[in-house]
Amino acid sequence: MNERKVENVIIVGGASAGYTSAVYAARAELEPLVIEGFEWGGQLQNTTDVENYPGFPDGIMGPELMQHFRAQAERFGTRFISDDATRIELSDGGVHHVWVGEEEYLAKTVILAMGAEPKRLGIPGEHELAGRGVSTCGVCDGAFFKGEKVAVIGGGDSAMEDSIFISKFASDLDIVHRRDDFRASKIMLERARELDNISRRTPYVPEEFIAGDDGRIARIRLRHAETGELEEIEVGGVFVAIGHTPRSELVREQVDVDDGGYVVTRDGSTRTNLAGVFAVGDLVDHTYRQAITAAGTGCMGALDAEWYLRDTPPSPEAHWAGKAGQAQGKPVEAAPSSG
Ligand code: NAP
Repeated sequence: MNERKVENVIIVGGASAGYTSAVYAARAELEPLVIEGFEWGGQLQNTTDVENYPGFPDGIMGPELMQHFRAQAERFGTRFISDDATRIELSDGGVHHVWVGEEEYLAKTVILAMGAEPKRLGIPGEHELAGRGVSTCGVCDGAFFKGEKVAVIGGGDSAMEDSIFISKFASDLDIVHRRDDFRASKIMLERARELDNISRRTPYVPEEFIAGDDGRIARIRLRHAETGELEEIEVGGVFVAIGHTPRSELVREQVDVDDGGYVVTRDGSTRTNLAGVFAVGDLVDHTYRQAITAAGTGCMGALDAEWYLRDTPPSPEAHWAGKAGQAQGKPVEAAPSSG
């Protein structure tokens, strides 16, 4: 008989949400397997100082914070695969399949924690100056720009929200948008308009972020969207706030997602429309997108998975063994992974 291990829980994604799920699942003796990705650590891996994560009164560097998360999960027996999941086949209440290249893994539950990526402009200087005055998170980095002239790129609610927050610190703030009309809600536009140090610069398309002698952002080259005229403005910082893309591409056809591609969860939990499949972190979150909120839902995902495993009748091992066999089209004996 073909004997294959069926994991209690596979967590797909190695950042705030996924590692927190792993800490909780490991402490519940579920021996989680985390497929953390080749570039694990998520958005914090590209961040410098993190000053708003509770428990670190002096702040901490983003990559170091992720190291701590990972080490804590490892301490309780989490196993990691430092590569990207390449294919996922979810079931509804049966065994789920996750591939990393040719390697196939089976699990009774899956916690989806792939996160979201800030959209990029794709212009010269954007990547090179990330963390050197170019940021994609106003709430995270706004306070580093006290008394500076700053630009926020975008015309949606994120751009307004970032601008309102950053304007508490910046001396002057330009909202640079490619159209004269804004996509943002009236109330957010109004709030931004009421602030004396915020002005709008439209319709302008950013063409290049230019560094000064100190290697930090110093100027933005803008093109007028109608006349094509080029102009450079001086800035001490720039925030790109043009939306996010949830990394749901591997499961989008299988699990319920909304119009933006975010995985939909139910009743204030991390449960998806598929039994045994849970989703956490920025993959489900349009609104807050903070490390602490991702960690919070990561915890919820592990608890939801634990309760699901506990409450799924009849005898869990018989149930999973049968389902694994069906899913493979051949008999499979499940080896209990939690001892
Ligand atoms: P969004 O609504 O999609 O807006 C993105 C903005 O960036 C648009 O104005 C778009 O311009 C611009 N943009 C996109 N690609 C660009 C490019 N390559 N170059 C220049 N500009 C570009 O995204 P969002 O602001 O992140 O909001 C996403 C959702 O979250 C919305 O439903 C929003 O209401 C919600 N949200 C709500 C709050 C709140 O209520 N407090 C806060 C944040 C987000 P165009 O308009 O020309 O396409």
